[in-house]
Amino acid sequence: MIKFGPSGTDDAFLAHGYSHTVEVPRFLKECGLDIFEYSFGRGVRISEETARKIGKEFAENDLGISVHAPYFINFATDDPQKREATFGYLFSSLDALRLFGGNRVVFHPGSPLKYDRRDAMNRLLNAFERFMDIFYAEKYDWALVAAETMGKINQLGDLDEIIEICRIAENVIPCVDFGHLNARTQGGLKSYDDYKRVLDLLIDGVGEEKVKKMHIHFSKIEYGKGGEIRHLTFEDNVYGPEFEPLAILLSEYKLEPWVLSESAGTQSLDAKTMKNLYFKHLSDDNKYLQ
Ligand SMILES: [Zn+2]
Repeated sequence: MIKFGPSGTDDAFLAHGYSHTVEVPRFLKECGLDIFEYSFGRGVRISEETARKIGKEFAENDLGISVHAPYFINFATDDPQKREATFGYLFSSLDALRLFGGNRVVFHPGSPLKYDRRDAMNRLLNAFERFMDIFYAEKYDWALVAAETMGKINQLGDLDEIIEICRIAENVIPCVDFGHLNARTQGGLKSYDDYKRVLDLLIDGVGEEKVKKMHIHFSKIEYGKGGEIRHLTFEDNVYGPEFEPLAILLSEYKLEPWVLSESAGTQSLDAKTMKNLYFKHLSDDNKYLQ
């Protein structure tokens, strides 16, 4: 089943009088949403007790939870200590994820820093392959590891690079951030065909099965020459991208991704808008299939 929800707690969460993540399931129910992404962007800091308590609430309400690994991850680093730390960030995210009772972790693959992009990418692939060897040896195969497309041109993680990373192992799936893709291509996602090209490239590159269960981040994002500048809300009508063409395709292709809104402060509202658009097009499916 396709699922929709917010990434992080937003303005509406606070306006409803909530403050703690343990209350998120109740909030999601009120909003008619299905999933939540918990960010460890600035580090994995949560007690085992709190993580279990959060996990229990999600399980009892039959809602899904994913985690976002720390932003410090860089599989392309040439510094052995930083590589060790990168492995640690992703494994500790997985450990927290297990306490939450979830099975999806999203990560930013890395950055070439001062190095040639292809050299950096090869180093990244080598390191990530070693990471995945440990992942299987330590029996983390209950989890899906989602490599995210990045919004800044100088970060590794364009669509082709994410496809290469996903081909390393069965448990690695794409996290397609369509706002990021739109930002790094200077507004390249507009029409139904623009989105279709992305999905077709993905299916060719990683296979239907991984695309069916892929992870999606969606928000409108302001961009400049270097790509992403900042996240916006669905109120924006300058930068885009628009969700509606993708909603049509998700329904036509019968995909069942987790779709997370990363809007700036309106995540739950915009996630609900996406869910409504998806179901609107699901009901008049035939119109688009002719
Ligand atoms: Zn991200």
